[in-house]
Amino acid sequence: MNEQHHLNVIENTNRKQRVAEDQLAFGKEFTDHMFVMDYSTEKGWHHPRITPYEPITLDPAAMIFHYGQTVFEGLKAYRTEDDRILLFRPEKNFQRMNRSSERLSIPLLDEKLVLTYLEELLRIEKEWVPKTAGYSLYIRPFIIATEPNLSLAPSNTYQFYIILSPVGSYYREGIHPVKIFVEEEFTRAVRGGTGMAKTAGNYSAAYIAQQRATDKGYSQVLWLDGVEKKYIEEVGSMNVFFKIGEEVVTPLLNGSILEGITRLSIIELLKDWNVPVVERRVSIEEIFQAHKEGIVEEVFGTGTAAVVSPVGELTWNDEQMIINNGHTGKLSKKLYETLTAIQTGKQQDPYGWTVEIKE
Ligand SMILES: *Cc1c(COP(=O)(O)O)cnc(C)c1O
Repeated sequence: MNEQHHLNVIENTNRKQRVAEDQLAFGKEFTDHMFVMDYSTEKGWHHPRITPYEPITLDPAAMIFHYGQTVFEGLKAYRTEDDRILLFRPEKNFQRMNRSSERLSIPLLDEKLVLTYLEELLRIEKEWVPKTAGYSLYIRPFIIATEPNLSLAPSNTYQFYIILSPVGSYYREGIHPVKIFVEEEFTRAVRGGTGMAKTAGNYSAAYIAQQRATDKGYSQVLWLDGVEKKYIEEVGSMNVFFKIGEEVVTPLLNGSILEGITRLSIIELLKDWNVPVVERRVSIEEIFQAHKEGIVEEVFGTGTAAVVSPVGELTWNDEQMIINNGHTGKLSKKLYETLTAIQTGKQQDPYGWTVEIKE
């Protein structure tokens, strides 16, 4: 490791008052420290450091504010019953972050090296990993373009941050199915666009549809492809699966769908369990047709936050379908329980997915 990659630690001597774990809301509470690293065209990525968590100062002309050159990631650290700290497939997050960066013309990170920085940050903040079952420490790595310049061109300087937020359980009242509205007007992403990247604009552009669905009493929207408005892409900011008869179907990655790590893990689990699983184009018409035939057994979204989120009802124009009588399906439940048990060390991990943060 050369000099410019040496990690400096500036300790926070002014520790925060902590919120009781049962009062935690998502993403509002942050730990005592954060990780920062700089990029310049001359030096590349350099000056990695762990500092007290604090506001940052940027020039008002910093390119992030004007043209949205930024990417982010989301993963969690879990505390096991015997007090070890585990990450779930974190290398996949940094690999995906680099794919997002490539799309946004942001310089790539050394994936293995940044994982060691995250591990060091977690060693320092390990007391912040909640102890309550179902709770975790949410990890948010992100990169912003910092050059003060209004020209339309990639920034010459960037900062990479990692911040940490203790979060409660997604399912305070237990895993339960949600109502979904099939969005016909707005599009989340199109092939050739930025849908495969975790970049800010995709999410702010989705608020309008989410808000309308909320106003109508739904919890999320189902996104269709932007070209034909026929093929299913994602549900809210989760990937989506359908159990049709004995087979599990999920939309094929096509450039507009975000490649979820939960999605990948579920496909791998199903294969291991000899449950037929296929990645292919699937139209909304096909799903409603299959429902009429009575063979749509389960529908669920997948992502780091909820892990598995069962869908109890889908509304498409005037048509409505109720899935599994509005109850959580057997397979959805088994997937949820298996994945969360592996993530929290309750069940042995035969796949080598978990990474322990060792002293
Ligand atoms: C992050 C994200 C997902 C889920 O990815 P995971 O790695 O499983 O958390 C799915 N869709 C969108 C749009 C996302 O941003």
